[in-house]
Amino acid sequence: MPTPYAYFEQEFMPVSEAKLNIMTHALHYGTAVFEGIRGNWNEDEGISYLFRVREHYKRLRRSCRILKMDHLPDEDSLCKITSKLVSLAGFKEDVYIRPLAYKSTPVLGVRLHDLNDDFLAFVTPFGPYLDIEKGIRVCTSSWRRVEDTGIPARAKVTGIYVNSALVKTEAFDNGYDEGIMLNEDGHVCEGSGENVFMVEDGRLVTPPSSSNILVGITRETIMTLARDELGIETVEREIDRSELYTCEEFFLTGTAAHVSPVIEIDHRTVGEGGIGPITKRLMTLYFDVVKGKNAKYAEWCTPVVID
Ligand code: PMP
Repeated sequence: MPTPYAYFEQEFMPVSEAKLNIMTHALHYGTAVFEGIRGNWNEDEGISYLFRVREHYKRLRRSCRILKMDHLPDEDSLCKITSKLVSLAGFKEDVYIRPLAYKSTPVLGVRLHDLNDDFLAFVTPFGPYLDIEKGIRVCTSSWRRVEDTGIPARAKVTGIYVNSALVKTEAFDNGYDEGIMLNEDGHVCEGSGENVFMVEDGRLVTPPSSSNILVGITRETIMTLARDELGIETVEREIDRSELYTCEEFFLTGTAAHVSPVIEIDHRTVGEGGIGPITKRLMTLYFDVVKGKNAKYAEWCTPVVID
């Protein structure tokens, strides 16, 4: 029977057996950094393709540096642990891997120094996060994105996700699928768990890495596919909220969200309504690539055979 599996305190075990001390520092102060990696199930081959797993661990290492964590295993070991985890769990469907580096000392006192850190990961089934087929309805959130001068958003710190949770639940309570955050200066930043792209005059436009975004791996994937496969350039620049009301197309990207087309923002139809032509072409390309069906991008996909 496939079962959610964990790598915890240097051992592999079912998630149900991985128990964390309730005094663990990270639980109380948000002092952990994490990643989200997808394993995309290819039914024809019986293989789960882990997407850009090495890039995720490179970002995790950068996040660790910001939180003064020095004990993360090297990238090769992390990649091997991840493949073994997916193989042990045995799911024949799309999965999500959650690596977490955390301040593990069971002690009181808010700080980053004089604490141990440890690494854990688990894998669990995970289908679509947003309605990719139909497109989604979003609102501009009343919550602003945390600034680099407060908590650096380029680090995937667990504590920051209170910001995202406020945005997501406000959107949900008001009947939308997702919320879009503005920065403190009023420019468009990102969704609660996704980067944003608009299409303007046939080009892609997205906020730059200096705009308090999490610099997404899917964002980089889409910029590469747009440039190399469709000849479409991406402009990284600040975006005003009102530009989202007049753009030709608008979509979100993220490991969980894949490429999610936005069909409505703040009760205004995006473009002509429905999924725009450039978004559609990018989605087709992207889904082939992440399922290991495009040989040109094979190095982005780590195969794990599930028997
Ligand atoms: N922004 C935020 C706040 C996120 O949580 C995520 C999801 N990791 C993203 C953007 C997209 O990043 P990625 O494409 O690397 O998953």
